[in-house]
Amino acid sequence: MMPLSPAYRPDPAHVSLGGELYDPVRPAVFPKTILRHRNQRWAERLGLGTLDNQEWVDTFGHFQPLPGNLEQPLALRYHGHQFRHYNPDLGDGRGFLFAQLRDPVDGRLLDLGTKGSGQTPWSRQGDGRLTLKGGVREVLATAMLEALGVPTSKSFSLVETGEALWRNDEPSPTRSAVLVRLSHSHIRIGTFQRLAFHSDSATIRRLLTHTITHYYPDLRDLPADEQPAAFVGAVAQACARTTAAWMAAGFVHGVLNTDNINITGESFDYGPYRFLPHYDARFTAAYFDQSGLYCYGRQPASLQWNLARLAGCFLDLVPAEPLNAALERFSPAFEAALRAAVLHRLNLAPTNNLDADLDHIATLFQAMADSKAPFQRVFFDWCGGDASRAAASPQAALYASAAFQPAAAALAAFSVADEARQHHAYLQRRAPVDLLYDEIETIWAAIAQTDDWTLLAEKLRAIDDLRLFTLGPRSA
Ligand code: AMP
Ligand code: MG
Repeated sequence: MMPLSPAYRPDPAHVSLGGELYDPVRPAVFPKTILRHRNQRWAERLGLGTLDNQEWVDTFGHFQPLPGNLEQPLALRYHGHQFRHYNPDLGDGRGFLFAQLRDPVDGRLLDLGTKGSGQTPWSRQGDGRLTLKGGVREVLATAMLEALGVPTSKSFSLVETGEALWRNDEPSPTRSAVLVRLSHSHIRIGTFQRLAFHSDSATIRRLLTHTITHYYPDLRDLPADEQPAAFVGAVAQACARTTAAWMAAGFVHGVLNTDNINITGESFDYGPYRFLPHYDARFTAAYFDQSGLYCYGRQPASLQWNLARLAGCFLDLVPAEPLNAALERFSPAFEAALRAAVLHRLNLAPTNNLDADLDHIATLFQAMADSKAPFQRVFFDWCGGDASRAAASPQAALYASAAFQPAAAALAAFSVADEARQHHAYLQRRAPVDLLYDEIETIWAAIAQTDDWTLLAEKLRAIDDLRLFTLGPRSA
């Protein structure tokens, strides 16, 4: 028996939903299982840090059940709108829910779910696999987003699996992996949509009760007929906070389909994502997003459209009016969260005038767009609104340009939030931590060409410095 600490608190709550929501499946048997990444910080928090590497691979490569947890993995059923077209042929086609556990620090119900663990009843023509490069890209995205304060799934484990995969966008076969994500729920907007599609009001009600019990317990005591709108409002607020955090992080998710939107608002599923080189509202991450539907600047509107689909799932249960009113909670929550996220990154204090602060932030973003100042650099160089820091930057000439002047004026409206934070070691670096496309390609090229994993390890260490600066030493 593996040595688990008392911090390990299994709670496989999803089974109580019954078989209408999932299908028990078996993991693929892989020719190899080579451990490539283990998230030791989160493993320790959840009581899984004591596993040795063999036990880790047995658990997160071969999927031997964890004690007291799901006896068999569950492929979850869902539908969703993909690029605004309804698709009833979705569901976990290359992943499953493997285990659920309580976070001993905050009591939240967390899932360990996979990507690339083999075929399921929902695979259609797909092979059920994940490319190693896709896994590495997700490890980087999740680390960077966590470090920037975005509510995100975590990459818990990455195991290379020794298969050769053919992919349309790759000229030759590519390496395979299985990723384990740590997520605050895998219930998506599309999980509700599937039940509404089948006019299954009884199961919608059951899923809502489950979701409120485990993820929105504050709504438990409301009368049953008020719960749908209250739930939609709470999800709208949670999604607004995450979207605002993406905007402040300079992040483009790329595929904001309703099956990729978690009802806890936590962001997940990082395929063709990009971080912005510089502020550009039209910047589009996915090559297959020809119309720019999910470009950077449209992310708030995309989430609002998705949330309206969630509200629509409850129209057989309650009238439209309170559901529509609940959707209105997105915008104020987004504005408040955008101000908080941008100013936190800059170590600046909000004033007592929200609208004025938002105007200054809009001015800053416009000047960042006009001047093409490197996105992460602006937050680094202008931390604390310190013009002398900016003057010492390699970008000093750009900051002196006419295009950037409105930004400097906007920043001058704020004062420093935390003097001690201005002296943080992170701010002594020569350059901010960034995660642009080319750097990810360089990290991947070292792995692909010479199996050199040191660039990835170094990058994750640097990202951890950013996390300590953003979130402080007690962040997990
Ligand atoms: P995604 O674009 O990753 O959100 O996936 C959309 C849908 O396609 C989901 O139902 C996935 O399970 C399915 N899918 C994506 N890639 C594969 C694959 N290689 N094999 C099986 N199903 C897949
Ligand atoms: Mg997905």
